[in-house]
Amino acid sequence: MPIATTPIRDDAAVAALVTDPAKLLTMVEESLIDRRETISADQAYALADLDIDAALVTDERPEGTVLDAMLDLAHRVRVLWTSEEVALESIVSGKTGGCPEDCTFCSQSSAFETLVKPQPLLTESEVLQAAASAEAQGATEFCIVYAVRGPDERLMENILELTAIVHAKTEMDVAVSAGILTADQAKRLKAAGVIKYNHNLEAARSFFPQVATTHTWEERWETLNLIRDHGMEVCTGGIVGMGETPSQRAELALELAEFRPTETPLNFLNPRPGTPMANREPMSPREALHAIALFRLVLPWTLLRLAGGREIALQDLQSAGLLGGVNGLIIGNYLTTLGRTPQEDVKMLKDLDIPVRGVQDLL
Ligand code: SF4
Repeated sequence: MPIATTPIRDDAAVAALVTDPAKLLTMVEESLIDRRETISADQAYALADLDIDAALVTDERPEGTVLDAMLDLAHRVRVLWTSEEVALESIVSGKTGGCPEDCTFCSQSSAFETLVKPQPLLTESEVLQAAASAEAQGATEFCIVYAVRGPDERLMENILELTAIVHAKTEMDVAVSAGILTADQAKRLKAAGVIKYNHNLEAARSFFPQVATTHTWEERWETLNLIRDHGMEVCTGGIVGMGETPSQRAELALELAEFRPTETPLNFLNPRPGTPMANREPMSPREALHAIALFRLVLPWTLLRLAGGREIALQDLQSAGLLGGVNGLIIGNYLTTLGRTPQEDVKMLKDLDIPVRGVQDLL
C-alpha cells in the first residue's frame, strides 16, 4: 500500500513566486494551457498565498485584481481540460444521522447535540422512487450516501441489493458513499457494478487533527487507494472554510491530485448549530472564489463540483464560481441542509449561457 505523502512546500521558492503575481499566472497559464501540464507544488502554494485583492492590470483587462485574473484563467483551463458543459447531480441520503464519528463540521455525528436525529435506512421502495425521479429529470448517475464510519455486513448487503435493483429498474450508473472500506468490501462493490465511490479527504493532512479524532486522515487515504486499486472511479474532495490556512487548501488540492479523481466535490463550511464549528464565520464570497480557482488550477482534469454550503459562502457570487473553474453542481437539497431549487440553478446556468449535462427539463 503506497504511503501517504504531503507535498513539500519550499517556503523560499513560494515567497519568490508570490512577489510577482503576473509572472506566476503567466507560468501557470503556460503549463496548463500551452503545454497541458499540471502545475508544480510550489506554484500551487504560491497561488494560495496571493493577495487576491491586489490590482493586476493587463492589456486585455485594464481594470482588475489578482482574483479576477485567477478566475479568468481557471475558466479557460476548465473549458480546455474538461468541457463547456456543467454537470448536475442529485444525491440521496440512504442513512441520515447517528454517525459514530466526530467530524467537527458534521451535524450527522452522534457526538454532538444537533438538530439532525438518526433515521432508519431508506427502504428499497424509497430508494427506487428517488432513483426513478432522478432518472426522469435526466440524471445519468445516482449516488447513495450513508452517514457511517464504514459499512458493516448488514449495510454492505443493503448496498449490494439496492445497486442491483437500481441497475435492473433504471439505466443509471450507481455511485456510493459509505465511509471507510476494507479491501474485500471494495472488491464486492466493484463486482456489483458500483461505478464510482465517494470518499472525501475533507481537509489537508496537516489540518485533519482539528477535523476528527475517531479516525485518521491516513485511514481516509487508504480507502482512496482501495477504490482506485479495485477499478472504481475516485470521487474525493473536501470542505473549505473550517479555519485552515490558504496554504492548507493548496495542500489538500495537491493531496487529492495524487488520486487523479474523476470528480472533486468542493464543500464550504455551513456552520451547523450544535457542532464544534457552529460559531465559525463562513468564508467570504471572494475567499470562496479564490478556493474554487485554486482547486481548478491544481486539478485541471476533474469534474469540480460545488456542493454543500455554496449558498452560504458564495452568496450572490454563485455565477462567478461557474465562470471561474466549476463544472458541476449538486442540485436540490444536500444531506442535511436545504439548497436552492433545481429550477433556480438551471435558470442561472441558462442566464450564463452555460450548457447543462445531466438533469434536464427542470424549467
Ligand atoms: S462527515 Fe461522515 S464520517 Fe464524519 S461524522 Fe459526518 S457522516 Fe460521520
